[in-house]
Amino acid sequence: MANSRFTYVRDFELADKVLPNTWMLVRIDGKGFHKFSTTHNFTKPNDKRALDLMDRAAKQVMTEVADVIVAFGESDEYSFLVRKQSKLYNRRQSKILTLIVSLFTSAYVYHWRDFFPDLPLAYPPVFDGRLVPYPGVTEVRDYFKWRGVDTHINNLYNTTFWALVQQGGQSTAEAHKTLSAKAFLNKYQVSSLQGTFSKDKHEILFSRFGVNYNGLPAQFRKGSTLIRTTSPAVEVEGDPNVASGIANLAITDQQRGKKKEKVVPFDGTKGEIAVIYEDIVRDEFWEERPWLLA
Ligand code: ATP
Ligand code: ATP
Ligand code: MG
Ligand code: MG
Repeated sequence: MANSRFTYVRDFELADKVLPNTWMLVRIDGKGFHKFSTTHNFTKPNDKRALDLMDRAAKQVMTEVADVIVAFGESDEYSFLVRKQSKLYNRRQSKILTLIVSLFTSAYVYHWRDFFPDLPLAYPPVFDGRLVPYPGVTEVRDYFKWRGVDTHINNLYNTTFWALVQQGGQSTAEAHKTLSAKAFLNKYQVSSLQGTFSKDKHEILFSRFGVNYNGLPAQFRKGSTLIRTTSPAVEVEGDPNVASGIANLAITDQQRGKKKEKVVPFDGTKGEIAVIYEDIVRDEFWEERPWLLA
């Protein structure tokens, strides 16, 4: 960069480096997607095409940013976990955040027609984002559990709400009222409730609309999780990772030819990206994939 008498303005750019050895969690969320989903005739409560498009855009982020080792999406939001060892952009917060938001948004637009071939975009969709550093494994796991629980609560509510409207003939205002805390207070003759009971919603869905909530697609109920899959395990004597099914990667034929095999433990940054619809609230999800939080 050439120096000039104007160069001093760079001194106004403050450092925004994220602490070393800290996980960086980026969450993006569609701006005004209530309106966006209405304008583009999304099926309520869950338009599968729109969810698949979100998953596709998130896959693009993971394809381009190897240090994103797990991503989780629901509705119009996606969370990306950047591993704590990452040196991406020298850990500059604004660079990492804007990269991910911009990449996600452009991929969303780029792939729109693959999922909505007959429906042109009515206007450019917008996503905002934030980056939150998390210091420990507990917080990172709890973060994803928080989003997983949110997916469940919102989807159960929205599924019941739209069943009341679409099959039950209620107006949206009436459906809100049916599911309001007040309605349940009357039912149980008590003065305070945390919210409406989950079993009541299951009951409304089953007895009034014949819907078994647990039979709905897992993508709707549990959200989408993107992880890289391990390559087929390579037999290496005495390697507990291989023995326990935690495969290793990057053993090329060339390396195999060398006298001593070098085993690179799987760290989740290479390999095929898979979309799965699993319950990330369960501890087992994390225990089965120890590299995610290593
Ligand atoms: P904000 O700008 O504050 O985020 P918003 O309108 O995007 O406002 P959210 O709380 O993010 O509000 O909710 C997203 C909305 O988009 C929900 O109301 C939901 O109904 C709708 N939506 C998102 N994805 C889908 C989908 N796949 N199918 C149907 N509706 C969807
Ligand atoms: P997103 O999926 O992006 O989070 P959403 O519209 O599906 O968006 P929210 O906007 O977070 O979900 O919440 C939907 C609405 O449902 C809110 O207005 C909230 O007040 C209401 N709601 C959710 N759960 C309950 C409940 N248990 N009792 C009463 N109202 C609820
Ligand atoms: Mg939104
Ligand atoms: Mg949202």
